[in-house]
Amino acid sequence: MRIWGSEEVKRSLARRREIMLRDHLLGRGIRSGEVMRAMEEVPRESFIDEGLMDSAYDDNPLPIDEGQTISQPYIVAYMTEALQLQKTDRVLEIGTGSGYAAAVLSRIVTEVFSVERLGSLAESARRRLQSLGYDNVFIHEGDGTQGWAEHAPYDAIVVTAGAPHVPPTLLKQLAIGGRLVIPVGPIPEFQVLLRLRRLGGGEFRREELCGVRFVPLIGAEGW
Ligand code: SAM
Repeated sequence: MRIWGSEEVKRSLARRREIMLRDHLLGRGIRSGEVMRAMEEVPRESFIDEGLMDSAYDDNPLPIDEGQTISQPYIVAYMTEALQLQKTDRVLEIGTGSGYAAAVLSRIVTEVFSVERLGSLAESARRRLQSLGYDNVFIHEGDGTQGWAEHAPYDAIVVTAGAPHVPPTLLKQLAIGGRLVIPVGPIPEFQVLLRLRRLGGGEFRREELCGVRFVPLIGAEGW
């Protein structure tokens, strides 16, 4: 039987993490040094069930509690890179899930605010991030389609669940020059990843980045 935390398991995880970095991230076009460093630093195995340890660095989403998922490493890296982050940025994430993407973001920017609608996930992510020492991540339980007004405006907002349209409230909480990266699609199962940059008051530049597949964003301005 393999023992969690044993030298053998640590070596095996390190090998798999190398493969993720080389083949799944660099090999598929992730170029930002900050994103690569963050993906190297954050132990994905600490955000999943022990039973899934062998799959921790596979390039696919994995199940977490409440029928939700931790996103595929490549997509986490891709969305983080798409946010075009600066060190001093304040970032809002919608859909905390396991807390993994928030931890990755927290290695690059000053402060990360993350909203999760499911209380049990918000609570377990809060405890996990605290125990791992990610003390610049702040978690709020609530409907993320309403953003987190208290700390707005944000330099970047990332939504990690699929929306039927771009929630107007999130656009309002974006700073001038800020970027919103969000999966949007007319059916809950498939989306196009969009990046919207706020150019001025109500003026936005919209780009379509790629096709993606996320669990639905459920809320007042979601499904
Ligand atoms: N970023 C997460 C991670 O690193 O583990 C993965 C997020 S998972 C793909 C999507 C999450 O969005 C789920 O935990 C789900 O409960 C949450 N969610 C869905 N609708 C939401 C909403 N309106 N506000 C906040 N969270 C929401």
